[in-house]
Amino acid sequence: MSGFVNPLARSRIGLLGQAAAIKGWTRMALGCADDVVVSVNQLACAEPGCPPEETVIMALPAGGPALKLSIHKALADLTEADIITAAREATSLTKRSIAPSPE
Ligand SMILES: [Zn+2]
Repeated sequence: MSGFVNPLARSRIGLLGQAAAIKGWTRMALGCADDVVVSVNQLACAEPGCPPEETVIMALPAGGPALKLSIHKALADLTEADIITAAREATSLTKRSIAPSPE
């Protein structure tokens, strides 16, 4: 028997599981190589009009400049679509991708 999904598993796994999922989505959205370190942190945001929490994702390629995604949502509320949108904005703003350029 496989494929059994415990509906409570998500909350038991909690933020660690969510952070791991976000790292995976970020890697896919940015096309990260294996040596790119992705970190996910939830920070408090003090800007007026902003939600109280924001999630900051850093992609750190070995030997290259870091790419930062900051999303004004709590870590637990992030979805794959949020990551894809933020990754697209970050890479178009900086006019670069951290993915290796294809030959
Ligand atoms: Zn903010």
